[in-house]
Amino acid sequence: MVVWLKTENGEAVRLTDRWSPSLFVGSNSASDFAVPVHTLRDEFLWTRVVRKRETVTNYGWSDVLEAKLTDARNAQRVAERIERLGPFGTFRIYNVDVPPDQGYLYENDLFPLAFCNVMSDGGRLRWTIEDDVWAYDYAIPTLRTARLDVQVAKKGRLPKPTDQIESFTLEYDGESVAIVGQSETDKLFRLAEVVHEADPDVILTNDGDTFLFPYLIRRTEANSVRLSLDRDGAPLTLPSKPGTSYFSYGQVRYKPTATKLRGRVHIDVDASFTYSEGGFDALFELSRVCRMPLHTSSRASIGKALSSLQFYHALKADLLVPWKPTLAERFKDRNELMTADRGGLIFEQRVGAYEGVGELDFSALYPNIMYRKNISAETVRCSCCPDSDNRVPELGWNTCRQEGLVPRSIRIIVEKRLHYKEIKEKVVDDSLRDHYDARQAALKWLGVTTFGYLGFNNAKFGRIDAHIAVCAWDRKVITDAARVAEASGFVVVHGIVDSLWLWKEGAEKGDYLGLKAKLEAKTGFAMSFEGIYKWVAFLPSKSEPGLPALNRYFGAFEDGRLKVRGIEARRHDTPPAFVVCQKAILDILAEAGTVAEAKARVPECIEVFLRYAGALERHEIPASELTFSTNLSKAPEEYATATVQHAAVKQLVDEGADLHAGERIHYVIMDYLGRGSKRVTPLDMIENQSRYDSDRYVRLLAETCSSVLEPFDPGCAAEGLMARYEARRSRALTS
Ligand SMILES: [Zn+2]
Repeated sequence: MVVWLKTENGEAVRLTDRWSPSLFVGSNSASDFAVPVHTLRDEFLWTRVVRKRETVTNYGWSDVLEAKLTDARNAQRVAERIERLGPFGTFRIYNVDVPPDQGYLYENDLFPLAFCNVMSDGGRLRWTIEDDVWAYDYAIPTLRTARLDVQVAKKGRLPKPTDQIESFTLEYDGESVAIVGQSETDKLFRLAEVVHEADPDVILTNDGDTFLFPYLIRRTEANSVRLSLDRDGAPLTLPSKPGTSYFSYGQVRYKPTATKLRGRVHIDVDASFTYSEGGFDALFELSRVCRMPLHTSSRASIGKALSSLQFYHALKADLLVPWKPTLAERFKDRNELMTADRGGLIFEQRVGAYEGVGELDFSALYPNIMYRKNISAETVRCSCCPDSDNRVPELGWNTCRQEGLVPRSIRIIVEKRLHYKEIKEKVVDDSLRDHYDARQAALKWLGVTTFGYLGFNNAKFGRIDAHIAVCAWDRKVITDAARVAEASGFVVVHGIVDSLWLWKEGAEKGDYLGLKAKLEAKTGFAMSFEGIYKWVAFLPSKSEPGLPALNRYFGAFEDGRLKVRGIEARRHDTPPAFVVCQKAILDILAEAGTVAEAKARVPECIEVFLRYAGALERHEIPASELTFSTNLSKAPEEYATATVQHAAVKQLVDEGADLHAGERIHYVIMDYLGRGSKRVTPLDMIENQSRYDSDRYVRLLAETCSSVLEPFDPGCAAEGLMARYEARRSRALTS
């Protein structure tokens, strides 16, 4: 294992530890162990029999074989060979897919950026940690950051690996250095020189994994040069594994293989949700809490980070991590689950607009239920505590008296976040407040993800009973809260999962705060008061028009703040110009103090629609503001020819783009009713910003505007808005 350290005087130091990970093998008969021990002896440094827990749902211990690997990189291959040594099921294999670097951190109770002392002793490293994952005010070593960009001398419309390098830009220490040269080889050597002089700890790129580094490597090959940008002097080479397409939250996504540098951290900003949403603060907090190296955590889904936290706690409890081929990361998010079984939908609100409604939300309710009610795969209906007092509502299931793996993992997420939120309110220093806020946000994302992992069939420690238990607790909590609210004279206008919208004649902030205290006392869970709406509109579901949508609403608070959920302005696949138009309408509505006032402002809003529609018709809005984006749901060659996605994909592939299922593409509609690949143009290939299918865009804009106008005026459905547009157009044509 190679470990890189930053010393107190800022030096980067490379240390090695003679360490490799272990695999564990279970079998019904210990005599079976002789077979793998003998057959695979070259793969193992040593083997021994140890006592471990094989499944999370069983507290029993068994004798398993621990096999220390000669080479960590062979774990998967060795596991497959062991599996084939007997009839199916003879050997149960564990800890195969715990990444070795994470395993090293767990075993040593280490975490990235931990302040520690280290001694080298006979090839092994001895760690003394003077830091704590629970620490709130921790010192981060001063890290030198550089941003690398490349300009390509494009020959076609898209950059290709065969195109030459025009120049590089390296930004560091507040300066931007342009790297140019006589020949391409010159530029490459100069780049290496500048990087070694700047000696950054972190290199930030945009699309470094999908484009910049693969392109750079192709150019070094074309010029037959060896280029090293890391601290180890290793030449840049293409990753040995191709990227992978996987399922997440019901969508196909694409994960390119990471280009990792030794002794420096490469963060591809476009591949990092955590960094792009929360910067270094969120990334460092997540890496520390989940014990994941920065390269990995910057690219990992939040679910992967949560798994790492669970693996650590499993290891500490001598619980083995079952090995399964990681085929698909398929789990449902909570809204999907709620729709599937209506588990959390209690109050069917009437679609429409309401005024004077206040909103009270339970804070991080799901993780808090799991943590406080001890919900985990092994605790719900455990065999050891049939008489436990902790029982699941409605179902009466017993819950274990011992703390489960999931609550143990969640503890730090829930409690640390709560503390950050508290100290954030007290600090006077704005920059410190921002640090705390980004860190609490990282913990919030982890918390939101915990529920999906609990019921996820393919998760290592998930179980459907635990998932059902959380839903039952949720229903009890929100129903209890609604009853108390009603007993206090409030009307429940709407309630979903963890939010209640309430109304009472003349109720003011103080009344809601009084009610909040009552609800917290009754349920035992903390709430936040979001505010009183001047007006709020709940929308029907788009896919099932008869049913109210769980999370489609928008409203204006008394202080003029807007809260918008689930409509176009919040969605990532909405064309930017549509977002601007919808927000302009919402801003007009936000000035209205009542539903009646909002209704009175509808004509003004229709004018906004007509103005944008006219601009579309005259092609005054540039095409780049009208891009739709979509994740490719399958490999490019699998697309049916009739879809607009296919049309976009075909053009990109024809132009030499290397696309994968799950990659995001952006395109503009050129001729919606046309045939063949000219129906759309990919964003990167647009040459004329004023060519697009304005008829189609006006129609789609009408749908977008109707989402926010129809609740106030039934005549503002998409058809109604189109009729107004047509009427104005024919008037303009005849006059
Ligand atoms: Zn028990």
